[in-house]
Amino acid sequence: MTVSIRASLLLSALGMAALTAAFAAPSDDEAASHHTRHWSYGGENGPQSWAEIDPANKLCATGAQQSPVDLSGALNAKAPAPIPRWIPARGGNVINNGHTLQVNLDAGGGVQLSGKDYVLKQFHFHHPSEHTIDGKAYPLEVHFVHTSPDGDIAVVGVLVEEGEANPNLDAIWSTAPVKEGEAHISHMLDAGRFMPSDEGSYRYEGSLTTPPCSETVHWTVMAAPVTASPSQIAAFASLFPLNARPVQPLNRRYVLKTSG
Ligand SMILES: [Zn+2]
Repeated sequence: MTVSIRASLLLSALGMAALTAAFAAPSDDEAASHHTRHWSYGGENGPQSWAEIDPANKLCATGAQQSPVDLSGALNAKAPAPIPRWIPARGGNVINNGHTLQVNLDAGGGVQLSGKDYVLKQFHFHHPSEHTIDGKAYPLEVHFVHTSPDGDIAVVGVLVEEGEANPNLDAIWSTAPVKEGEAHISHMLDAGRFMPSDEGSYRYEGSLTTPPCSETVHWTVMAAPVTASPSQIAAFASLFPLNARPVQPLNRRYVLKTSG
């Protein structure tokens, strides 16, 4: 029981916090004046202030295993490649939570990492990418958020560079609410269409990249990018000009690179 509560709390922390505040408890929120500072990606409530905004976000400032990171200097390793078991799903909900666009799926399959099965719950977007390679950011990064039955979180990140259009994005962008809200998407969504054909990936232990920055995420970032068209990237950027946390110190961690 506690495990599933923990998983759902962490899941919600990945992007649902604003929505929950807006829909579940608007009156509480207004009454609790100490809690009216909402985190953002810039200005006085930006990443450097996340821990001050709410004591629950302490790890954003004091954690030693924070995400994202720069992935250069990775050690080559023979760890098994992630085995995607994503399946095309018709329908889902596209949420604009004020921080990103997030697609919630009911039955989108999952992924196997190091012999353990994880179920895909949602995916969402960052502009520019949060992870960098040799200091270079990509125009977009997609995060596929998975949980295991025992409450572990695995996020698979896919970097996106400019190139051919991604067939998934138009349906998502055209359905997504421009302001905070939720809309049903009836198109076929296939997370597999976001996967590069090269299975090489970076693996490391890190955190949520949004408050409360919990250090509970098994990260996999695919080494090869996929593409989106310049206009698809521009469409997202017009809604979210900057929704990427800066890279964090690696500290005593290693990033492993598997060749797939
Ligand atoms: Zn993310």
